[in-house]
Amino acid sequence: MTTVFVVNSGSSSIKWELLDAESGSAYSGGIVERIGEPGGGAANHDEGMQQILAVLGDEHPAVVGHRVVHGGAEFSEATVITDEVEARFDELSVLAPLHNPENLKGIRAARAAFADVPHVAVFDTAFHATLGPAAYTYALDATVAREHGIRRYGFHGTSYRYVANKAAELLGHELAGLKLIVFHLGNGASVCAIDGGRSIDTSMGMTPLEGLVMGTRSGDIDPGVLFHLGRAGMTLPQLDQLLNRGSGLLGMTGTGDMRDVQAAADGGDTTAQEALAVYFHRLRHYLGAYLVALGGADAIIFTAGVGENSPTTRRETVSGLGGFGIELDVHANSRSSSQARVISRHDSAVKILVIPTNEELQIAREAVDAAGL
Ligand code: ADP
Repeated sequence: MTTVFVVNSGSSSIKWELLDAESGSAYSGGIVERIGEPGGGAANHDEGMQQILAVLGDEHPAVVGHRVVHGGAEFSEATVITDEVEARFDELSVLAPLHNPENLKGIRAARAAFADVPHVAVFDTAFHATLGPAAYTYALDATVAREHGIRRYGFHGTSYRYVANKAAELLGHELAGLKLIVFHLGNGASVCAIDGGRSIDTSMGMTPLEGLVMGTRSGDIDPGVLFHLGRAGMTLPQLDQLLNRGSGLLGMTGTGDMRDVQAAADGGDTTAQEALAVYFHRLRHYLGAYLVALGGADAIIFTAGVGENSPTTRRETVSGLGGFGIELDVHANSRSSSQARVISRHDSAVKILVIPTNEELQIAREAVDAAGL
């Protein structure tokens, strides 16, 4: 039994879980929300961490696993955090100004609280270290790109690693022989083409803004739009806010929550219906691209809040693709369950799966391995 404390420190919240890395069973967990907001759960991340420690009481983990969003080109695997490593995270914040500084606050607070156990950083980008130059290079002036570290990195890697292994289990095949397309559809959303357990393409880029339509992010957009809006008087911070926090489902409909958008669409709201059409169109765009990138797929997999719980989204993504050997079992698709399951027809050449992700467990396992426990 190896008890791991997993910390996911975001801009205004700290999510945490205390779990056994072998069985995956969680002893306790929770979230301190609205940090720094008036009337919120805590004044700052240190105070939030103190509250979590009070809940933990006498529990003492063997290792602490930290989710870190951006590992840049330098961190391609889970890494034990030393003072030098922590200092490098500060520099990486340039690449992920919205996420890494917040992750770092959690790391500092937790290292102070548990000074005598190893702390391990597990990166969202690490799984995509296998991307080849053709997939990760932006066709920019090479000197500018090099100077500023501009390339595609990809995110949600912890989830992809977990889900890919689960898929291999469920299919009864070695991961090494499988071609998978995994849709991680949460508030943030991306998709990944996985060949033999290796990420060969993914929809998020240098930052988690590229790709699919998300809760509040635009995903793919013509960069010319930014110049146009800039000339119209919008500032850089305004554009950042617009694309990261004021676009996607929220921007198109007024709510970024898929449940609300679907309920509105079902009730006949044409704005919501059109927004969903944009969301589904983008999913199919990437499905086509990755079927070709992989040269066909053994399975298409849905995970995270929307992927696990929205039959409509799954149906709209794969409908009408019988010609590609993709046949959804509509009944299996509409049944709700919290289990990993097959939702394709028996005669479907390409299996369609729903696999609940478990990033905490994956972080815990990688933390134990990296710490050599
Ligand atoms: P995060 O990226 O914050 O981890 P989640 O993976 O929890 O996000 O996914 C959150 C999204 O999942 C929200 O848009 C939410 O509306 C959606 N979701 C959750 N349950 C359902 C459901 N039953 N039907 C449709 N969407 C759902």
